[in-house]
Amino acid sequence: MRTSSFFSKASGFLRSHASSSKLLVLLSLSSAGSFVAYSDSQAETSTPNLDLAQKDPKKKRIVVLGTGWAGTSFLKDLDISSCDVQVVSPRNYFAFTPLLPSVTCGTVEARSIVEPVRNIVKKRNGEIRFWEAECLKIDAANNRVMCRSNIENLVGNREFSLEYDYLVVAVGAQVNTFNTPGVKENCYFLKEVEDAQKIRAGVIDCFEKAVLPGLSEEERRTNLHFVIVGGGPTGVEFAAELHDFFQEDLVKLYPMVKDLVKITMVQSGDHILNMFDERISSFAERKFQRDGIEVLTGCRVLDVSEKAITMKNKAKGETSSVPHGLVVWSTGVGPRPLVRDFMEQIGQRKQRILATDEWLRVKGCENVYALGDCATIDQRKIMEDISAIFKAADKDNSGTLTVKEFQDVIEDIVIRYPQVDLYLKSKHLMDVTDLLRDPEGRERDEVDIEGFKLALSHVDSQMKSLPATAQVAAQQGAYLSHCFNRMEQCAENPEGPRRFRSTGRHAFRPFQYKHFGQFAPLGGEQAAAELPGDWVSMGHSTQWLWYSVYASKQVSWRTRVLVVSDWTRRFIFGRDSSRI
Ligand code: FAD
Ligand code: MG
Repeated sequence: MRTSSFFSKASGFLRSHASSSKLLVLLSLSSAGSFVAYSDSQAETSTPNLDLAQKDPKKKRIVVLGTGWAGTSFLKDLDISSCDVQVVSPRNYFAFTPLLPSVTCGTVEARSIVEPVRNIVKKRNGEIRFWEAECLKIDAANNRVMCRSNIENLVGNREFSLEYDYLVVAVGAQVNTFNTPGVKENCYFLKEVEDAQKIRAGVIDCFEKAVLPGLSEEERRTNLHFVIVGGGPTGVEFAAELHDFFQEDLVKLYPMVKDLVKITMVQSGDHILNMFDERISSFAERKFQRDGIEVLTGCRVLDVSEKAITMKNKAKGETSSVPHGLVVWSTGVGPRPLVRDFMEQIGQRKQRILATDEWLRVKGCENVYALGDCATIDQRKIMEDISAIFKAADKDNSGTLTVKEFQDVIEDIVIRYPQVDLYLKSKHLMDVTDLLRDPEGRERDEVDIEGFKLALSHVDSQMKSLPATAQVAAQQGAYLSHCFNRMEQCAENPEGPRRFRSTGRHAFRPFQYKHFGQFAPLGGEQAAAELPGDWVSMGHSTQWLWYSVYASKQVSWRTRVLVVSDWTRRFIFGRDSSRI
């Protein structure tokens, strides 16, 4: 089997390298999970600096907020020889979030999916300083962040501030309740490792409550009614995990209530997994129907109390209230208070989420970068610059653009405005010059400004904001460290596209996201996947692909071995139902 052969390879590898004092394993993985992993045997001798004072004033001071996908990926490749790096995060570990749903039912243990931050930064010989604290305020005007440690029973001052030359904000996002009454108080969330552990205990509690003596059948049913709000990938994966947990393990331990369990998924849109290909969302809906998971689409939750969840069917206009045993709220994310406050300071009050330019620099701040779930790229519209592009391209100032003149600026246009490439693909146009054809599709020798505007008028319709995923966050972290490493070099020899509104070139190419596909595990050893090149794959073989991809994307050999051995344990012994 693929898992066991993988496991034996991994342990063989570890055995064969156990004696080397410095073991550095470079995992050259394509997207989200490309990380450097280290053995525990790194014995560094120099004493790390515990002071806030900078050792070498010539080095640029970089402060990184957050140790999630974006922050860790940024640190991984950063060349720290010319910078002084400090990292602040209330979590001293990195969590492999795609496996969080598996933690909710004990398929994988919580410790198997986390890697201590200090393991990640220690290769830097104490040069990267990590402070386990929360950033409370970004003071962009004074290049300073205010932080506070949340560790209990701390002896001494828990507050401190850090000065920076460059700030990298990678604090992620927080659960969005859309201010729905009762959600904060009565729902479980699935965002952090602790949330997954709470759900695991909560699910077992529901079963133990349901089998207590003296309950009516209706009361037992209520205790065993699990409601999941949100039909996105996280909600769907949790529903599938829960169904498997019940079918494969709990049904043998609680046979007396096996007919009383119900899982309901509430989704405000018309379909679950609506960000996936249509074939995947209908496959998932059919699978859930066969499994007896009720999917209520077009329903908006109005209120959640301790005992019941109230929702409104949008089409029928009817309101209904259903008793529940446990509700998991998984409807998306919104900005953290720290980021909201920062947005107010820098004039982004009206924005939904912190906006950066295509180089991940926060709009309105020269030296603050934001990446991952906490920010979005405000992609520049080509129509905003159309006159400047025309002027720059029309070298002979004739008032018209020839195909040759257009060709001279094409490369810069495609790099600066990625929507051009997407538009060409969507229209099946082979060449950018096809854009200059007349409305009947005939080639033109030249176009004037009005013709040029018309030719590109639909290009901006292809602009899409990037999804809040680990894949995006990790790629952004890698991109930004690459830019930081080459800052001086690119200031002298810019490698970005030409500037159309002014002179010269941009120092760097803008960030460009590469989508490597995404998975949706659906339970019963079945999964669906959207693969690059518009491929869709569904069923048992896709689940095996999922196992191998997620094993390969683990951040260290330690977590890889733990995750694979958890899966093996689950195959052999089933999941553990102890409430601890
Ligand atoms: P995070 O990874 O959330 O990291 C944020 C970091 O900032 C944390 O270290 C946090 O402790 C720290 N922080 C928070 N507040 C502060 C503060 N005030 N000061 C300093 N530090 C702070 N994506 C995929 O691509 N594929 C998947 O399969 C997938 N599955 C998922 C399943 C679940 C259950 C969840 C919740 C998410 C999943 N995602 C998946 C999405 C993915 O986890 C996020 O997009 C990704 O974590 C974003 O990375 P980030 O670095 O921006 O934020
Ligand atoms: Mg001309």
